[in-house]
Amino acid sequence: MKFQYNTRPMTDNDSLQRFLFDDTDIRGDITTLSSSYLDLLALQKYPPQVALLFGEFLAAASLLSTRLKHTGMITVQARGNGPVSTIMTECTQGNKLRGIVRGNFDNLDGLSTLQELLGTATLAITLEPAGKERYQGVVPLEEENLSKCLEFYFYQSEQLPTRIKLASNAETATGMLIQQLPTSGDREKSQDDWQRVSSLFETLSSSEQLTLSHNDQLYRLFHEQALRLFEPQSMQFSCSCSRQRTETALISLGQEEVMDISEEQGLIMVTCEFCAQEYRFTARDVSQLFEPEDPRIH
Ligand SMILES: [Zn+2]
Repeated sequence: MKFQYNTRPMTDNDSLQRFLFDDTDIRGDITTLSSSYLDLLALQKYPPQVALLFGEFLAAASLLSTRLKHTGMITVQARGNGPVSTIMTECTQGNKLRGIVRGNFDNLDGLSTLQELLGTATLAITLEPAGKERYQGVVPLEEENLSKCLEFYFYQSEQLPTRIKLASNAETATGMLIQQLPTSGDREKSQDDWQRVSSLFETLSSSEQLTLSHNDQLYRLFHEQALRLFEPQSMQFSCSCSRQRTETALISLGQEEVMDISEEQGLIMVTCEFCAQEYRFTARDVSQLFEPEDPRIH
């Protein structure tokens, strides 16, 4: 049967789906981000090559969020000495994405690769499961692209054979991951399965990722395997900032410092760097922040 190329249905936009190969120890995740990616780009106005790299980091955070069993947050962050100094994306188990890129973007002509943009850099993956201990793994960002760096991270930090492909364009950020879980059964069969599935996976192109539905991508690669694709979870851009968190941040700066700024500027404006939400604090708000709790009983 000839494979039919269908355009990606809207239902795959801004979603994350898990899949499993029957009778093997291999699992996978597939994600496509559209509005969530565009909403973030609309706020930040990055140069095109920075936006594309940011898209890959967002897709990575989305894919890796299935590692959070219940609630919590995963952060994918790179820091380097190149024009892009920091690129950071977060995803909560509630499928809320946010992220930011920092750096000096004045002179990026001709620069497009991971190394050209970030220079000598490290990649940190931080898992913060709710109520459990935070875990962070760090690897050098030395491979040709983020997908390969993440594969190295899984190999190094978790000893789990993993293949990842991320792709982005001006409208879409997408990714697919397959992973071999520790086997309790026949090791030889498990290795053969992984060889077969991972070599099929390698044939997936960026243009297929950016144009085909999840179902069609999986069918194109694995139509001879028994595979189960789970219900999609929707992903969205959502910031976790709040007035209360901003107050806590101000309090942590210390009374003297905050009072000084307040006297100097009259009004303290704190702008969330992720979503551009503004929080305003008048002199009166500021003095209330540092007042002891009102002892009245309500
Ligand atoms: Zn915010």
